[in-house]
Amino acid sequence: MTLDESKIRLIMELRREGIADSAVLGAIERTPREIFIPTPIKTFAYDNRALPIGAGQTISQPYVVAYMTQALKLDDRCKVLEIGTGSGYQTAILAKLARRVYTIERHKSLAEEAGERFKELDLHTISTRVGDGSKGWPEQAPFDRIIVTAASEDVPETLLEQLAVGGIMVVPIGPQDGTQHIYRFTRTEHGFEPEKLLPVRFVPLVESEVRDSA
Ligand code: SAH
Repeated sequence: MTLDESKIRLIMELRREGIADSAVLGAIERTPREIFIPTPIKTFAYDNRALPIGAGQTISQPYVVAYMTQALKLDDRCKVLEIGTGSGYQTAILAKLARRVYTIERHKSLAEEAGERFKELDLHTISTRVGDGSKGWPEQAPFDRIIVTAASEDVPETLLEQLAVGGIMVVPIGPQDGTQHIYRFTRTEHGFEPEKLLPVRFVPLVESEVRDSA
């Protein structure tokens, strides 16, 4: 099967699994996942599973990327903050649906590789930063949307504070060695409305100084 054929099969599978937002499916269709995957395993690019990307990290499963993106309810006016750039795949999808994306990664090597991919794909609305994303990006706050692609043990209060009123944050929360759940928080005039969504397994959100290499 060619990569194009396996991509079409993946889109059909995502639809069957309940991803109904055609803008999200379109963004996935227009984003070449093979660009974000190490050469020896590119042939698995459109398998519906997480894959290793170096530095002990993974590119998320396409279903989870689609699910979280759909849960964010993006539109082209949104200013988005992403924590955990990783390969940059989720970032590229966000950039196709939002006005501007700010993304933070603690591994310098991954952040640099992702930055190269954004250039290669002509994605010019993405700003990257190397650092501890659990502190957010205060100079650019507030954000209309925040997505965290690593698992937090607790509700990330510092990030919630950087959400605009009417804004939405999607984040996996739970123990590092167990099942986490995707939560969605919507900020209202009066506070935050939490919803518990999908059970998932993510690499941990590490709250410490930046790593220079693997
Ligand atoms: N969205 C990514 C998934 C990457 S896995 C993709 O599509 O490829 C999660 C990433 O979060 C890892 O690269 C990890 O290094 C990063 N990460 C973990 N804790 C972090 C923190 N505190 N700040 C920034 N990045 C963090």
